[in-house]
Amino acid sequence: MTLRHRHLLGIEGLAPPEITAILDLADDYATLNRSGDKHREALRGLTQINMFFENSTRTQASFEIAGMRLGADVMSMPMQASSIKKGETLIDTALTLNAMHPDLLVVRHPQSGAVNLLAQKVNCAVLNAGDGRHEHPTQALLDALTIRRAKGRLHRLTVAICGDIAHSRVARSNIHLLGKMESRLRLVGPPTLIPAGAADWGVEVCHDMVEGLRGADVVMMLRLQRERMDGAFIPSQREYYHRYGLDAEKLAHAAPDAIVMHPGPMNRGVEIDGTLADDINRSVIQEQVEMGVAVRMAAMDLLARALRADREEGVV
Ligand code: ASP
Repeated sequence: MTLRHRHLLGIEGLAPPEITAILDLADDYATLNRSGDKHREALRGLTQINMFFENSTRTQASFEIAGMRLGADVMSMPMQASSIKKGETLIDTALTLNAMHPDLLVVRHPQSGAVNLLAQKVNCAVLNAGDGRHEHPTQALLDALTIRRAKGRLHRLTVAICGDIAHSRVARSNIHLLGKMESRLRLVGPPTLIPAGAADWGVEVCHDMVEGLRGADVVMMLRLQRERMDGAFIPSQREYYHRYGLDAEKLAHAAPDAIVMHPGPMNRGVEIDGTLADDINRSVIQEQVEMGVAVRMAAMDLLARALRADREEGVV
């Protein structure tokens, strides 16, 4: 299986069989990652450059590990020290790097759409590691893999995505993915944190946690993304936790075997109770991190196959 895309910019452009193909390969890589010899040669000879213009812990580390396990030469640009700080534009930086013949560029940027723009200027594969509030495709894929492994399927599930939907690229990518795979979605949060047009996205919108969690198979909690807020969106942190923070009492309204997810970074006592986050019988948060490496290995492997095929045909 190869992807018909050069880049992975979002979930929006992926067809359900492509999503399934990435997840199937990622499942194999998850097995490899638990074994003694974690190396494969899928990216051998290729150069991967990571450019993170926004902070990242999990995503950057897992892209690095994924590239190294597959034999790529991996370099993470120290963006704080780069010429961007001297006024070079994103496009100039991209063109400079492009001249060094990378094969895979992994990019995170605070502006929605910046990664798509960059992809038009380079002749390698570009992976979006999160752009503004637009998309975070590998996060949605790792969430999907975690859900599929826990529930055995991705269709006919009730998934409640709760909290700061308005500023969340994780929510957007998950809405695309889970909608395509025919699960039922509920967005739960205060009216200030749910985008105005959300009701037209084929999802249910709830402003009450108990109602929103009722019978849910999956409960996905999101952080208040203050770095993207330009005003007061909640009355107080205490009040927010009281109404929208996930604790055992609220979770009791979900399905008895509901799983709890969070993309991280987590703010314990703000959107989720710390004890619940650590409860291995309910929380799959650590598994999400584990699946992140596997999904990024699969995505880069498939994109590299497409890139090599294009190069053989002389398209690039
Ligand atoms: N780590 C995720 C992201 O980069 C979620 C978050 O920051 O809250 O979007």
